[in-house]
Amino acid sequence: MPNLLYDTLIAPHRENTNTFLISDDGENLTYAAFCQRASQIAHVIAEAGLLPGDRLVVQAPKSGQAVALYAAALQAGVVYLPLNTAYTPAEVAYFVEDASPSLIVCDPAREGDMTDLAASVGATVLTLDELGDGSLRRAADDKPATFQTADRGPVDLAGLLYTSGTTGRSKGAMMSHRNLLSNARALTDLWQITDKDRLVHALPIFHTHGLFVALNTALLAGASIRLMARFDLDMVLEELPRSTLMMGVPTFYTRMLADHRLTGEACRNMRLFISGSAPLLAETHDAFTARTGHKILERYGMTETNMITSNPYDGDRIAGTVGHPLPGVDVKITDNGAEVPRGTIGMIEVRGENVFKGYWNMPEKTKEELRSNGFFITGDLGVMDADGRISIVGRQKDLIITGGYNVYPKEIEDVLNRCDGVAESAVFGVPDADFGEAIVAAIVGRADEDTLRSAVADKLAKFKWPRRYVMMDTLPRNTMGKVQKNILRQDYTGV
Ligand code: ATP
Ligand code: MG
Repeated sequence: MPNLLYDTLIAPHRENTNTFLISDDGENLTYAAFCQRASQIAHVIAEAGLLPGDRLVVQAPKSGQAVALYAAALQAGVVYLPLNTAYTPAEVAYFVEDASPSLIVCDPAREGDMTDLAASVGATVLTLDELGDGSLRRAADDKPATFQTADRGPVDLAGLLYTSGTTGRSKGAMMSHRNLLSNARALTDLWQITDKDRLVHALPIFHTHGLFVALNTALLAGASIRLMARFDLDMVLEELPRSTLMMGVPTFYTRMLADHRLTGEACRNMRLFISGSAPLLAETHDAFTARTGHKILERYGMTETNMITSNPYDGDRIAGTVGHPLPGVDVKITDNGAEVPRGTIGMIEVRGENVFKGYWNMPEKTKEELRSNGFFITGDLGVMDADGRISIVGRQKDLIITGGYNVYPKEIEDVLNRCDGVAESAVFGVPDADFGEAIVAAIVGRADEDTLRSAVADKLAKFKWPRRYVMMDTLPRNTMGKVQKNILRQDYTGV
């Protein structure tokens, strides 16, 4: 029976004796052993009474067993729903009530809270800890190593992935087999991932980046993964000389750069560094090249669409741009739905097999953001140059309208980031009786306010000058390294 993702990503490895996962404790799992483990877990899922299409919620630490649980969900045909491990029981309650799963796999430390919650939706609870132990493992150990793969077609759901909640409450994005596979194929091809690659995997596996981008491309190519429980600078630097590929968020790269052990020699076997999930500062891009000789490849995507654009593998990787639309992905820049000329800022809209089926339980929101012609309105503003390269200007929700003028925070941040002593900045608007919104600049570093004011006055029109500067030790960020401007707006409104 056909099952699009399982048959393409997992089944071809059943006899593959190459290493797939290398854990922090040095334990190696071959592809063949991984497939067997996934099948054992698929039996556990089926025995818990789940049928194809039922939801499986996973809020468990990252481990090889947790990766096998994802593969098991595919084989059993259930919808995989991973949750940020940082979410509190109260936050988890929202997702569980929204998605009504039939099985919840959680950290043993959370079992008590989860059991009550599970009872309210009639779900079973199993546990999985950071070593891969727990009741899931015990239940799987004596199961057969093969499983009758569930039938799943291209438009059936494979994952229900909640957005990061940077701009408001997280929304469940319904991802089909075809959505995920088309993107995995495009990326594996473009980034030339092969079975010779060894990937440094320090991202969480509850988010599209570490889950679908990293795991699906590695599985498709048959690459090896050095699976780290979390980003640990010492561990990452130790692994680099043995690795060929890394995927990270910008903060990974700034933290690596702050350590003198990051050198060209340490990266001697590295083929490619990829960055995404948040904007990579041009300064970081340049400093990384100066130190290692490698140009970080920046790409752009979101939960609802998988990856949308990427800088080229061969060809210029330009700092501050996110490159061209992926093959098979249409991107247009619009104003009220109408395409704007190249070089003009507008809304980024995306169409392609990568684009999700809609928001779970939110038909109205789906209708507002997913046009009947297939284009998804991303909520990000961008500009396309004459060659079709795209630069992200920021989220529409972060656009500041002051005195009737549109002000794009990034333009001001770029000026501030180039000033001496500024490590990073975040510009945002707060309500203002006279102007609608007033501009505030949050600065991390040891910069002198007069210097900042004169740099801004030198480069930008007066209506773009921040009214206020606030110095901070760090910017508020979520787990994916995204700056939470909604928190900044809240904290500085009326102060
Ligand atoms: P929510 O939709 O719940 O507010 P979120 O949009 O942060 O949260 P994700 O789907 O994880 O949730 O993130 C997608 C967003 O991340 C994109 O819409 C974009 O704003 C940002 N992003 C991703 N890659 C890049 C990049 N290379 N440069 C700039 N921004 C990026
Ligand atoms: Mg979003």
